[in-house]
Amino acid sequence: MTSSPGVYIHIPFCRHICSYCDFCKVLYNSSWAKAYLQKLKEEIKENYMGEEVKTIYIGGGTPSVLSLEEIEYLLNLTNLFLKNNLQEFTFECNIEDITEELLILLKKYGVNRLSIGIESFDLDNQKLLQRVSVYDDAKSKIALARSLGFNNINLDLIYAIPHEKMRTLKNDLKDFLSLKVEHISTYSLMIEDNTYLSYKKVHHIPEELDEEMYFYIEHILEKYGYEHYEVSNFALPGYASMHNLGYWNNSEYYGFGCGASGYISGVRYDNTRSLSNYLKGDIRLNKEILSKDDIMEYELILGLRKLEGINIKEFYNKYGINIQDKFKIKPLLKTKELLYEDGQLKINPDYIYVMNEILVKLV
Ligand code: SF4
Repeated sequence: MTSSPGVYIHIPFCRHICSYCDFCKVLYNSSWAKAYLQKLKEEIKENYMGEEVKTIYIGGGTPSVLSLEEIEYLLNLTNLFLKNNLQEFTFECNIEDITEELLILLKKYGVNRLSIGIESFDLDNQKLLQRVSVYDDAKSKIALARSLGFNNINLDLIYAIPHEKMRTLKNDLKDFLSLKVEHISTYSLMIEDNTYLSYKKVHHIPEELDEEMYFYIEHILEKYGYEHYEVSNFALPGYASMHNLGYWNNSEYYGFGCGASGYISGVRYDNTRSLSNYLKGDIRLNKEILSKDDIMEYELILGLRKLEGINIKEFYNKYGINIQDKFKIKPLLKTKELLYEDGQLKINPDYIYVMNEILVKLV
């Protein structure tokens, strides 16, 4: 049994399909949603081993596209978990779905963090992404959430959108900052295979502009008091996402639902991305029983995503081996791509943008 894992629940339904999306999702359909929630219940009952859970994250897809009745059913499923020590409970919503009734329901079941997919307020960006977020709507819905006691809100921002200029990003950041939320997740738009954008042969913006945008975002968000704590994530002090930190700290977590992944009792697994297979009960796509070497490698790769890096002593206490003896760290310390400071091994913040290249050199 794992001590206090996190729980991720995937809801693969959306009201429309965005042009860039390669997540596991289908258009919402109430009969599928009802069947899906039934299956989810079975999956949880079959696999949950009764631990106290530390965090719950309901993501998607778009969980808020479900009807209120379906959302209540879903929230009720979280009562299957032991939640006495629950520290964070996140629910992802699209801004247009937020209503007073929804927020009251979420509050009633202990949701204490909202994650809202805004992405961009710019009309040209929205046209390309094929999704809409209206600033005034966001402002009033966030105020409504505040009035009902939600004091931990994340907004997702997408940048490096084809044809996007620096001035567009600057305007988006100005708007995001004016909403005064506790957490901002930023994503450089990737053109993934099998998305509308890739069929249309849309290309990523030039690499130098992407880099310039990355460092501008960091500069401006830090100026406004946000801590850059993970390669793509910024939070006001005390508001880093506990659930996501669980991933980067290589802690264990259940993943339930179509397309979800999990890491429990030393086994990493992925569920099927096919809704029809999931509904048939053909849930697990694969599983990987990890060796100690694998676990150490995950610890390194995931831990270095955090700006604070990895605590060398904790690594030694966990695995009985010095991290320097296990991975090719010394050459990267010499080139200053990695730093060793106050007992922490970390990627030099100047190089965090090319983190993936550094990780390849390491493992
Ligand atoms: S980006 Fe989000 S809302 Fe858009 S289709 Fe994908 S999961 Fe659905």
